Amino acid sequence: MATITVAGTGYVGLVSGACLADFGNTVICVDNNAAKIETLKKGGIPIYEPGLDEVVSRNVQAGRLTFCTDMASSVKKSDVVFIAVGTPPADDGSADLKYVEAVAREVARAMNGYKVIVDKSTVPVGTGRRVMNWIAEELAKRGAEAKGFVFDVVSNPEFLREGSAVQDFMHPDRVVIGAESDRAKNLMKEVYRSLYLNETPYIETNIETAEMIKYASNSFLAVKITFINEVANLCEKVGANVQDVAKAMGRDGRIGGKFLHPGPGYGGSCFPKDTQAMARIGRDAGEPLSIIETTIEANEQQKRRMVEKIEAGLGGRAAIAGKTIAMLGLAFKPNTDDMREAPSLTIIEGLCADGAKIRACDPAAIKEATWRLESCKDSVSYTNDEYDAMRDADAVVLMTEWNQYRNLDLDRVKKLVKSPLFFDLRNVYKREDVEAKGFRYFAVGK
Ligand code: NAD
Repeated sequence: MATITVAGTGYVGLVSGACLADFGNTVICVDNNAAKIETLKKGGIPIYEPGLDEVVSRNVQAGRLTFCTDMASSVKKSDVVFIAVGTPPADDGSADLKYVEAVAREVARAMNGYKVIVDKSTVPVGTGRRVMNWIAEELAKRGAEAKGFVFDVVSNPEFLREGSAVQDFMHPDRVVIGAESDRAKNLMKEVYRSLYLNETPYIETNIETAEMIKYASNSFLAVKITFINEVANLCEKVGANVQDVAKAMGRDGRIGGKFLHPGPGYGGSCFPKDTQAMARIGRDAGEPLSIIETTIEANEQQKRRMVEKIEAGLGGRAAIAGKTIAMLGLAFKPNTDDMREAPSLTIIEGLCADGAKIRACDPAAIKEATWRLESCKDSVSYTNDEYDAMRDADAVVLMTEWNQYRNLDLDRVKKLVKSPLFFDLRNVYKREDVEAKGFRYFAVGK
């Protein structure tokens, strides 16, 4: 079993670190956010991720998982260093690699022998080579003391989904390893030994291919969501029901039923930035990816379309000033507190700009939403209780399909609201059920 440093203890780093420890490795999770490390040392979990606390505490107790801010000492003790820092979009849409570069250089400054540096962050094709160069540059600066130090860079993209991250990491559809030396490949097999022995598909490629697999996968999923969103919009015009269309399409084994759920547009920390970065890679390489470029634009339109849908239901844009809208759910999907690029942000901002008041609830994301919606703070209030949010509301919008919003007591809701307008942006409810309770029901594509 290997000794591993995981640099960056966010959604991916913390889950990876805890699960790699569960596989039997010794793992040190490092972050330069001292408050985060302090929370973890005290037994807290800085993010909302079901099941993560159990894996963390089990491995802390077993002595396989520790947390610190000291990268140098951690790297010195490790055979393998995972880079799991953020790669947010830069102004031109490309992935900003400044955090990856900072870690690569820090690792090189602390290197005391052979290391495998593993890129787990989602990074553009070519980043593995750049990481090699950054490390080589820092080693050269160290002169004689670092002469002869050998290292390998590996690309090991991560496919976990927030909300089911632990399960995804423990039972992945595939493990992708982009590596070039047998030494690095063997060490990675050691790291993932429990999956490797379990016959999890283990795909070895060169570094560039591994980097491309991640962007191609996420871009494809974003295209699939956007495709069904456009079909949904068309269904509304022609009197078809997109849910039945998607169900029947999904039965075709060549298509598959996943990611065929229409809604307010994709969001989250990955699809928006990864499609942008992929489009940028295509443009830079002189091979523009027109499907992805169109997907990005169509997704933006889908969010704006939701604002128009709600406003139209309320009597038009001019009629919305002063209306109170109950927003059920804020996070970009259930079971996470992640608000990065959540469609709710664009939709709330759009409604507030036209004079609406929002009463929002979410089981986990209120704290994150509050600072992200600072620009409309005078128009948005928050509550943990969905029924509280709906009291005297002029409309109810189901934004994120958390379990508690899937089975509302509609009789109670009907008594609470001022006007019975129900916008189901996730197509959770059946039209006839909601209308039978006296609501006007608006969905996406049906
Ligand atoms: P995150 O923002 O939650 O976490 C990044 C962490 O890195 C933060 O805690 C930050 O403090 C830390 N950090 C930054 N610079 C550092 C440094 N120099 N030293 C130590 N720590 C440092 O990000 P995330 O959502 O975990 O994403 C990380 C990467 O994984 C991104 O490239 C992302 O695209 C990719 N990814 C994310 C998901 C997901 O669902 N979130 C899934 C697959 C892949």
